[in-house]
Amino acid sequence: MSEPSTSSSDPGQIPPGVMEALMRPSKNRPASRTLASFAGGVADVSTPESGSELLLNRYDLLCPRPECGSIILRTGVAKLVEKPSFQMEPTDRTPALLPPLPEPPALTAWWLVAPSPMEFENIGFSKPLSGDVGTPMKLLICAECDLGPVGWSAVGGTEFWLACSRVGYRA
Ligand SMILES: [Zn+2]
Repeated sequence: MSEPSTSSSDPGQIPPGVMEALMRPSKNRPASRTLASFAGGVADVSTPESGSELLLNRYDLLCPRPECGSIILRTGVAKLVEKPSFQMEPTDRTPALLPPLPEPPALTAWWLVAPSPMEFENIGFSKPLSGDVGTPMKLLICAECDLGPVGWSAVGGTEFWLACSRVGYRA
């Protein structure tokens, strides 16, 4: 795309495309890797927190849509937790870009983000839904392109769960 020519007719108006160009890194967005592309699985995308047994996310977590790649969470913010899977959508309604999660109560790997959504770089929330656990919950979706669900949280809760297999990794 060619740069728009400068117009002096309205100095208060930012020409279309300029803000986008300013906010975009000088090269293309970083490539996003899926969890499945790491031979060691979650061991390859986690790193020990110094002085503890906690495992944190080793890479920035990204929207898994290749054309989007919006940064969801910065390195070192989420804790790796293995806990039962959670059915976030009907099994026949999983978006094509997202891998299905194992059927509960099988264990799966989650990134736990706490205690508030301020920890995220960018995240979107669905409207409250009544989950199968009885407590109202919200689904986590990409704030830029709405791809999801990539995770969930209880309404008013302090824990936000991102499925490790449903986010991209800036490795
Ligand atoms: Zn996105």
